[in-house]
Amino acid sequence: MGLRDLITKDVKSENESKTAMVALRVLYLTVLIAFVIDLLIAGSELFKINTVKIFGFLAAIVVLFIGTYYSKTKTALFLFMLFLFLWILEFIPCFGWSAGLQNYFILVLMMLFFASYGRPAIKFVNAGFVLVIRIITIMLYGKMASQIEMTLLADKLMQITNISAVFLSIIFVSYMFSQKDNEEESKLMKYNDLLKKEAYTDQLTGLFNRRRAMEYIKTVREEYPDKPISIAIGDIDFFKKVNDTYGHDMGDEVLKDVAKIMVDACGKDAFLARWGGEEFLMVFPDCNGDDAYARIEDVRRTIQKTAISVGGNEIHITMTMGLAEYDFNSDLQSTIKEADDKLYTGKANGRNQVVY
Ligand code: GH3
Ligand code: MG
Ligand code: MG
Repeated sequence: MGLRDLITKDVKSENESKTAMVALRVLYLTVLIAFVIDLLIAGSELFKINTVKIFGFLAAIVVLFIGTYYSKTKTALFLFMLFLFLWILEFIPCFGWSAGLQNYFILVLMMLFFASYGRPAIKFVNAGFVLVIRIITIMLYGKMASQIEMTLLADKLMQITNISAVFLSIIFVSYMFSQKDNEEESKLMKYNDLLKKEAYTDQLTGLFNRRRAMEYIKTVREEYPDKPISIAIGDIDFFKKVNDTYGHDMGDEVLKDVAKIMVDACGKDAFLARWGGEEFLMVFPDCNGDDAYARIEDVRRTIQKTAISVGGNEIHITMTMGLAEYDFNSDLQSTIKEADDKLYTGKANGRNQVVY
């Protein structure tokens, strides 16, 4: 298992935030590395004076790091903050004020806002608490010299180490959480699109459903305010016979095939929906009745001549259609009603025809 796997390993309980734990692990490692470099720069004399304390804190980092695999986010966050507070306050007197350990308080602030999900008010109160502690450290340790004599170079190197560790931590953790938000947002958006698509789609044929058709009719007039609009309703002839002869499931297959034929035959600019059982609604925006008549007469003929295979047999389906052009006076609902009436005229007149 590589370091990357080790850091990004998921938490035990399912409902805990993985990102927060991964961020904590990165922070512990960064603090550990910076701490070790600080100790190396300071040298053996400082180490001798504080052996127990240094080993104690090194051990604490290891234990707390391991703890992130087992504890809850809230506990782990609390322990991280407690650790950082104690570490900063214990080691400023060792390395001196100019080493810059006080900058690590910013990490507490950052985790407080990014990784905890409490009420905002609590976050602000806690942030105020961090500020107070930060100010107290100025009172207690401001300009305090290091415990041991350090060269100017050692002092500068230590400052550079600590400020780099803080910067890198902020960059990395902010990046992680901003990515997380983006990912979640795009996941949600995709899911929304999917839901919307499902709500608008007829499950059997994959065509738009009646709900979508109603919405489309509501908006198509706004899209084409002074253009003609033609609407047709088609109903499969004697479909009950298909069901009776081949069974309902085969009937379903025939409906799917008819839908496919209609999609190809109606053309891209037409709106096609399954209006009900074996009825289909076609809307031709920016198309007058005469042109629409020619087009759906084509559709009717294509359906009639296309062989559909059902249970090993080839059958031919016919459709009767009623067509109406929007008259700019009433609403599109009346146009639909007119198309429906004409459809029934076609049924009465012998089927397999377009009535306009
Ligand atoms: P007409 O030419 O007068 O339209 O005759 P028809 O048999 O097509 O009309 P009718 O209204 O008597 O019957 C329609 C049939 O369509 C009855 C119904 O079971 C069937 N049907 C409706 N929806 C579905 C469906 O989703 N799947 C299948 N397999 N059949 C369906
Ligand atoms: Mg019908
Ligand atoms: Mg029918």
